[in-house]
Amino acid sequence: MTAPAKTIPIVRAEPSRAFEFISTKKDELIGWARKFSLFPYPFVTACCAMEFMAVSSTPYDTDRFGAALPRFSPRQSDLLMVVGTITHKQAPVLLKVYEQMCEPKWVMAFGACATSGGFYQNYAALDGIDKIIPVDVYIPGCPPRPETVIDGIMQLQERIARQQHPILTKEF
Ligand code: SF4
Repeated sequence: MTAPAKTIPIVRAEPSRAFEFISTKKDELIGWARKFSLFPYPFVTACCAMEFMAVSSTPYDTDRFGAALPRFSPRQSDLLMVVGTITHKQAPVLLKVYEQMCEPKWVMAFGACATSGGFYQNYAALDGIDKIIPVDVYIPGCPPRPETVIDGIMQLQERIARQQHPILTKEF
């Protein structure tokens, strides 16, 4: 009579969390670096420009947030700040500037006109830039207060910091 075969318990190895850890830390590092190195492209068309200048200067000083150095080339910018009214005639130009910016990129609608057309409800003005390009942050006001703009920059920074950056893309 043969003895019953012993059953050997199957012990499954725990999946390694090292990759997850490295990936998480890399995302945090890239997010942190990106959030404090914004290069704005000011697409300025109207009176909100005064407010844009005020927020860039002392005592508000957007340099504290790493966002004070405007670049006037879309290829060197990652934050498109649309400041003022956009007409239907200007819309294709704005779209071209947006398309020329490298990824990742973000868009701020600065003031009521860029957000919704403001009080220019007529045949010439665009009802907000989100009709042609995606907007990440809307700044209300006509014109917006510098504090409101700074609040918008800080909210955008939080959003940038939370973005995920996969190590491997589908192409690999
Ligand atoms: S929101 Fe007001 S201040 Fe800004 S561009 Fe429009 S009308 Fe001028």
